[in-house]
Amino acid sequence: MIESQDIQKILDKYDKTKLAVGTLGSHSSLNIFKGAKEEGLRTVCICKEKDVIMYQKYPVVDELIIVKDFTELLSETLQERLRSLNVILIPHGSFTAYLSTEQLVSSLKVPMMGNRKLLQWEANRKSQEEWLRQAGLRLPSTFESPDDIDRLVIAKMQGAKGGRGYFLANSAKGFYQRADKMIEKGLVTKQDIETVHLQEYVLGVNVYPSYFSSILNSDVELLAMDRRYETAVDAIGKIPATEQIEIDIAPTYTVVGNFPIVLRESLLPDIMRMGEAVHKKAVQLAPPGIIGPFCLETVITEDLKIYTFEISARIVAGTNVGIGTSPYAYLRYGENMYMGKRIALELKNATKQKQLQTIVA
Ligand code: AMP
Ligand code: AMP
Repeated sequence: MIESQDIQKILDKYDKTKLAVGTLGSHSSLNIFKGAKEEGLRTVCICKEKDVIMYQKYPVVDELIIVKDFTELLSETLQERLRSLNVILIPHGSFTAYLSTEQLVSSLKVPMMGNRKLLQWEANRKSQEEWLRQAGLRLPSTFESPDDIDRLVIAKMQGAKGGRGYFLANSAKGFYQRADKMIEKGLVTKQDIETVHLQEYVLGVNVYPSYFSSILNSDVELLAMDRRYETAVDAIGKIPATEQIEIDIAPTYTVVGNFPIVLRESLLPDIMRMGEAVHKKAVQLAPPGIIGPFCLETVITEDLKIYTFEISARIVAGTNVGIGTSPYAYLRYGENMYMGKRIALELKNATKQKQLQTIVA
């Protein structure tokens, strides 16, 4: 486990006048880099050869470091290079998708914006649930064993990437049948099924509000809202039910993009209170709580109840819909504010106030 004193020592040696924002070249990197450039910070991108074109077409990166694999981020040579460039890393979905929590917590000796201690709370579904429940949020019920299934459930694999391998079941029998089929198709493994997480399927529409928790201002800001565009589930409605039954489609949830959402205004107060409550609980669980961006993954039902089924305590790719601006960022900041820029602004303010150590771990 990397202690905050270790990071503190590294930060002490940084040239604060040449601070750089660094991240892996994918997910929300353009958002993060554009924001950093607009705030006058340097940018460092750890990137795969095949993705370089993105940074040629959108010149938002000062320093491109080409790697074969994102796990190279764990190498001491690369980390030394990042430290020599005064890099503050901004974690996003690719960090947790390609590196383990253990690796992020123990082997990444580069200052990272955010609270590393919260990673542990987030990584495990049970502790995450406890966090959200204790914050007073409404959660879908969960089932210990497939044999307990008495309503429509969604079966989730541990550490699934973008909902890949998820499936629905309405009974124990249906669950085992579907599981066998999924294994047969190679979509999941036997082990996935043994450690599967069974959650009540909440019928409603998805809303993903993105917040920014500013430790400097003791405030939680609502900055963007989106929903996902998922294949094949968003395609199934295009064919009639009779054909759906005939070809036996499994509704999979692989993300291909996002849509912006403007929420019915009477739902906003609850969405705002939920963000505040989640951060407040995090302050107790792992002080100083959430640092920077986070997102609640919710379903809203026909009686306007908001169910939260997950939290991401970092920037989500859904905030990319707000690059430039979004109604929620506009309401607070006027033109030209978005998650990547808000991150850079916080880094700049922290540096000015000599508070960098409070938002970096
Ligand atoms: P990638 O960098 O595209 O390989 O994605 C890394 C992780 O972030 C994967 O778990 C993806 O499913 C997730 N992810 C990437 N893009 C999006 C998106 N637009 N919306 C939601 N999740 C995403
Ligand atoms: P995730 O990868 O956990 O964000 O979820 C992938 C997809 O499953 C998203 O489209 C969610 O809307 C859907 N989903 C996850 N949990 C639930 C739930 N409890 N009820 C309804 N839909 C869900």
